[in-house]
Amino acid sequence: MNGLIARWHRRLPVTARTPIVTLGEGNTPLVQADRVAKAAGLPPASVFLKIEGANPTGSFKDRGMTLAISKALEAGATGVLCASTGNTSASAAAYAARAGLRCVVFLPKGKVAAGKLSQAVMHGAEIVEVAGNFDQALVMAGEAAKTKGFALVNSSNPFRIEGQKTAAFEILEQLGRAPDNHFIPVGNAGNITAYWKGYKESGTAPRMFGWQAAGAAPLVSGTPVTNPTTLATAIRIGRPVSWDGAIAARDESGGMIGKVTDADILAAYRFLASREGVFCEPSSAASVAGLLKLGRTGKAPSGISVCVLTGNGLKDPGITARFTPKIRRVKAGGKIRL
Ligand SMILES: *Cc1c(COP(=O)(O)O)cnc(C)c1O
Repeated sequence: MNGLIARWHRRLPVTARTPIVTLGEGNTPLVQADRVAKAAGLPPASVFLKIEGANPTGSFKDRGMTLAISKALEAGATGVLCASTGNTSASAAAYAARAGLRCVVFLPKGKVAAGKLSQAVMHGAEIVEVAGNFDQALVMAGEAAKTKGFALVNSSNPFRIEGQKTAAFEILEQLGRAPDNHFIPVGNAGNITAYWKGYKESGTAPRMFGWQAAGAAPLVSGTPVTNPTTLATAIRIGRPVSWDGAIAARDESGGMIGKVTDADILAAYRFLASREGVFCEPSSAASVAGLLKLGRTGKAPSGISVCVLTGNGLKDPGITARFTPKIRRVKAGGKIRL
């Protein structure tokens, strides 16, 4: 059997009796990105991209979900629920379908990318559309999770963090050493918390550089944001659940949490697709946008940097509609001069 629980079971809270629900997640590519390095003012072979969009449902959420759903099944749950900006619901719906569990998802109205919503629909999730933002949907999911037989699979669920920390283990294996710097988008802050845990458990301590969208940057300002705004919907969160985990990762590693504008995010998103051949979703590009921002003032950190690209670009076709495609129109059989 493949999948990250089989690979890392000695370092995860599972026993021989845990029923493993897997779609073969993890083991994602780490790709050298010399054009990003150059744009940040760094030498070749100093920037690597961890392509988490290569997971089964197209985002890193699968790492936490394989464990959270397996543990829910082990505990005798009959259903799972979550609030989601999209990717958690897509992942929960897929793993719940595989496990034969009900899946109820609370989604902020109008703020979930089309690809993610289509996943929840096709995997048979029961969708609750909340006329409010993610933070409000999360409070409702928490209330509903008191229903007997249901497990909450948001990143407040410790098994999510445990599963997600395996990405740090993979990076150490793939590089053959620890990176010096780790760049990551930050929304609810579960993922930065998980990577830091994974690095620490391996006796390593890269500097953690977390990046929020400027319109949704509570960890930068130090206060929750009531109406978060950004086109990077996966990090459109005003009150991160893992607030303390993110601050600990920043301070213990000597790193930082900064913010990037939507324009920075879109520029990095386009650069990755057009210059590196890597199509991620806008939220994911916040990590590279952060590195390029530091590079603009000559402050990109030296040594090896890993940038996590959290989700697949195919999930958000609404964003690509903002870019003017290069299309030449001809009649069938017409001549084209290249
Ligand atoms: C969930 C998600 C994030 C944010 O991760 P947190 O753990 O909430 O900080 C970033 N990018 C994508 C694509 C996501 O799905």
